[in-house]
Amino acid sequence: MANFHPSRLPVVLFTALAATTLPNALAAQSAAKPGEVPAAMALIKEADLKRDLYAMAGDAMRGREAGTPDEMRASIWVAEQLRAIGVKPIGDDGSYFQWFNMVRTRVSTVSTRASLGTNALEVWKDFIPLGGSSADVAGTVVWVANSADTTIDVRGKVVATPIVAPNPASIRTTTNSADVRYTQAAISATQARFARRGAAGLILVADATSDAAFDGLAILRGRGTYDVDRAARRFATQPTRAELPVPARQAGTPAFLVRGSMATALQGAPSIEVQVRLERFETPSVNIVGVIRGSDPKLRDEYVLFSSHQDHDGVRYQIDGDSVWAGADDNGTVSVALLASARAFAKQPGKRSVLFVYHGAEERGLLGSRYHAAHPVVPLEKIVTVLNGDMIGRNHPDSASLLGIQPPHRNSSDLVTMAMRANELTGKFKLDSIWDRPTHPEGWYFRSDHVPYARLNVPAVMYSTNLHDDYHTPRDKPERINYPKLTRMSQWMYLTGWFVANAPTRPGIDPGFKLER
Ligand SMILES: [Zn+2]
Repeated sequence: MANFHPSRLPVVLFTALAATTLPNALAAQSAAKPGEVPAAMALIKEADLKRDLYAMAGDAMRGREAGTPDEMRASIWVAEQLRAIGVKPIGDDGSYFQWFNMVRTRVSTVSTRASLGTNALEVWKDFIPLGGSSADVAGTVVWVANSADTTIDVRGKVVATPIVAPNPASIRTTTNSADVRYTQAAISATQARFARRGAAGLILVADATSDAAFDGLAILRGRGTYDVDRAARRFATQPTRAELPVPARQAGTPAFLVRGSMATALQGAPSIEVQVRLERFETPSVNIVGVIRGSDPKLRDEYVLFSSHQDHDGVRYQIDGDSVWAGADDNGTVSVALLASARAFAKQPGKRSVLFVYHGAEERGLLGSRYHAAHPVVPLEKIVTVLNGDMIGRNHPDSASLLGIQPPHRNSSDLVTMAMRANELTGKFKLDSIWDRPTHPEGWYFRSDHVPYARLNVPAVMYSTNLHDDYHTPRDKPERINYPKLTRMSQWMYLTGWFVANAPTRPGIDPGFKLER
């Protein structure tokens, strides 16, 4: 499950919101009709899911970060499992792999330089640039002890000021460590105090909490940003052909975070000079693609696409002594659920073919799905449904979410009907409908790999058991997964796919479907 840029993300405490159920979700349940549930569903086994997840989200996989050998290692592991199960390759050169390039933009540690008085400063070690662009700042530092005092004229000056504690309500409640979340909110709060005051540069001096967060924040910001060229859209406003210019100058006041130990030096009116420069390069990521051919000569050229992402956040900084952000729930759970579905389809194929796509670089902005939706390995119009899952092994054992089932996110009532029936016959989950709402502050619908397909009018839903405190932290480990729940979620995804694969007609698109962003 991918993040939004923090600035897109309003913060809300979800414990304050009551879960609601869809009125018809549990109504009119009936037992399975003869033949409705295929015998092969018995091949979706808790023991297999558990074994596979401990392999895929174990420390040896090092968090599977996109564009690194760790994502490659995990991708090869997935491909080997598919081969052993009997899924056929449908990627580049007869392989299981569809390669694409990520375009990465980050601060250049080689070309970025800074000095305070006669001392050289080192980027990421002594200071953290807070904008996503190049910057040139030079002058004599003016110390502003109280940033709330707006009578001080800072126009054209380089200001140094203690970072201010944020309003607790503005601090995110998930991802990273508490000190990093505090610091991100504190940076915004302090910058806001200098908005439109015309300073030439802003040096934020860390307090004790942001000092503790400094190295972690440097590791997070040092990664820069990622994009992909010639890709489908995640958001309506996203260019399909990314010209991706390197941002020339920061729009607002260039800002930097420095360690608390620099406060004394900054109060002595020293001269400062900072030049931030960016670098851009392409680096490969990969989608893993395989197919199980359908049994019906007429329908086998249509495909039900099962979707996961194999990447996660890699090795970052330590939280509670652990630096491997393993991504067991996100998205090891769905990755192993797809292997289980593949075992069942390999044993008992449906009428339509089944396409398994593990998308690379989802965490970097849905890059693999944006690429595959624009360059699918089978014709896009032959993909009759996308069943995407992201994080399906946590939270209350009896609740789950299915995204894409309420307007404006619902694009196929036919598909929703099949998914609801599959739920009745498998997990019997109470569906938490708030996560599918356009007003949901987390924007959950837009945060995984079904989105680029849905936007291209492919019927699509996403299965999720939603956010938890271990989301995007090193604590997202295999031992924290509810395996009986993961098994039921896997069966639900599988049976939905079975229904679509065998339906006399493919699911239609609801008229007037249009996403709100
Ligand atoms: Zn994620």
